[in-house]
Amino acid sequence: MHYIVVTGGVISGLGKGTVTSSLGYLLKSHGLRVTAMKIDPYLNFDAGTMNPYQHGEVFVLDDGSEVDLDLGNYERFLETNLTGDNNITTGKVYKEVIEKERRGEYLGSTVQIIPHVTNEIKRRIRLVSAKEDFDVVLIEVGGTVGDIESMPFLEAVRQLNREEGGNNFLFGHVTLVPEIGSVGEQKTKPTQHSVKALREIGIQPDILFCRSKKPLTLETKKRLSLFTDVPLDGIVSVNDVPNVYLVPDAMEKQGIVDFIIKRFSFKCDQYNDRWASYKENIKNPKETVKIALVGKYIELQDSYISHKESFSHVTGNTGVGIEIKWVNSDDLVNSQEKLSDVHGILIPGGFGYRGIEGKIAAARYSREREIPYLGICLGFQVAVMEFARNVLGLKNANSTEFDTKTPYPVIDLLPEQLGVIDKGGTMRLGSKKVLLKEGSLASRIYGVTEIHERHRHRYEVNPEYISRFQNAGLMFTGVDEDGIRMEIAEFRDSENLIAVQYHSEFKSRPLYPSRVHLYLINKALEYKQQVLEATA
Ligand code: GLN
Repeated sequence: MHYIVVTGGVISGLGKGTVTSSLGYLLKSHGLRVTAMKIDPYLNFDAGTMNPYQHGEVFVLDDGSEVDLDLGNYERFLETNLTGDNNITTGKVYKEVIEKERRGEYLGSTVQIIPHVTNEIKRRIRLVSAKEDFDVVLIEVGGTVGDIESMPFLEAVRQLNREEGGNNFLFGHVTLVPEIGSVGEQKTKPTQHSVKALREIGIQPDILFCRSKKPLTLETKKRLSLFTDVPLDGIVSVNDVPNVYLVPDAMEKQGIVDFIIKRFSFKCDQYNDRWASYKENIKNPKETVKIALVGKYIELQDSYISHKESFSHVTGNTGVGIEIKWVNSDDLVNSQEKLSDVHGILIPGGFGYRGIEGKIAAARYSREREIPYLGICLGFQVAVMEFARNVLGLKNANSTEFDTKTPYPVIDLLPEQLGVIDKGGTMRLGSKKVLLKEGSLASRIYGVTEIHERHRHRYEVNPEYISRFQNAGLMFTGVDEDGIRMEIAEFRDSENLIAVQYHSEFKSRPLYPSRVHLYLINKALEYKQQVLEATA
């Protein structure tokens, strides 16, 4: 077993997740078996109870775990499915330690951060490592070196290095090399300080991943090497590139994988880049469509990262460029002007009343003007509410999530949620089977009649209204295994709407884009053509 630990220094938000994922892609492309895990030093048990403004999107795995969005990056770059064990948090570690203490498993001892907490961290790392016959386990430690929260984790990986040998362990440190002045001189001091802080806790990095605007000059690399003791060929410039899927190439070119392979004495395959044509499409899209992403967390685009990636996957596979127009749903309540220049509309998931009326207005606008619409989770529920209000004429139809006294609760709490009080990990979560109606648009989009998709919701289409919807032309063409949960909606008389209760964005992969995102883009292209013809 070989470990590569990735830490971060200088400032947060440098893209450790992208560096870790890119390393994973490169190692995997040499035929190595790789997994990745993320350590989040916050006290939350998982990411599920956090507002997207705090840490961006809450990602959902097959097993129903609600995890950090970096796990989404790992899954996309490694083309694999991970489990909740791949995301360690302070909350998970402390909960386990305290439960063990209560059970008397430490009877007689004073329970302390070292060794009890650090042992629990190492146990969790080894648990993931032992799951399969991996060649490399990538461990990303969240936070910035020097933070109080991440100390126990850094101490644990320091111990792990001692215990696991040494020739099978590498420390990579992601830092920032800013450029100052009119000539853009690259400054190494922040990195020197950050490495100093790491060394104080007993960790000497083997690799530096330096985030910078432009590639590091040889001079800068030499200076960094001199001050940090990291060998010159272990210093990688991770300068800005237009798309995350281009980061692995930039790293590969600097020989970092050869460096790792040599250090680990791996005998492995030649580099087999599976994304070559994908990346060509991303770099040179043929034609572009404009898609409105209507949400309420749009100031932080990371809140919708899996949608952004899904669109990127569509571009990579079709060559169609996608310009996302970020639209705040509150801006659509009185006027839908902001949607007048788009070729398609995506309404993603969300919680809480704020922003709902604008989303309903967007759904109406799309239906009346026949603009292609993709609804995901809340976006599915919004399409149903809009249809109830404006086609069925059910005034003030709503979801009981937003209005408990609505006369027409067309979206209502899932029956098994009645009496559920705890908020953490209690939604309908994870991968579930969805059965598609033969001959439906949905079944044509997927080319099969059975799919498995990831869920995260508490509310559903109220079964009492289903026949009224279907009689009026809103068809439910995907249902759960038992046929009682509505999973997909489409129109009987048009192909402009596809709305799904599940989150297809979580399983979108570079070489296998989310089918409904792909469909939206194909329809958007058609729509754009129609607009062009109409104005010609
Ligand atoms: N708030 C809605 C529900 O709980 C939708 C959830 C979502 O979009 N993820 O059902």
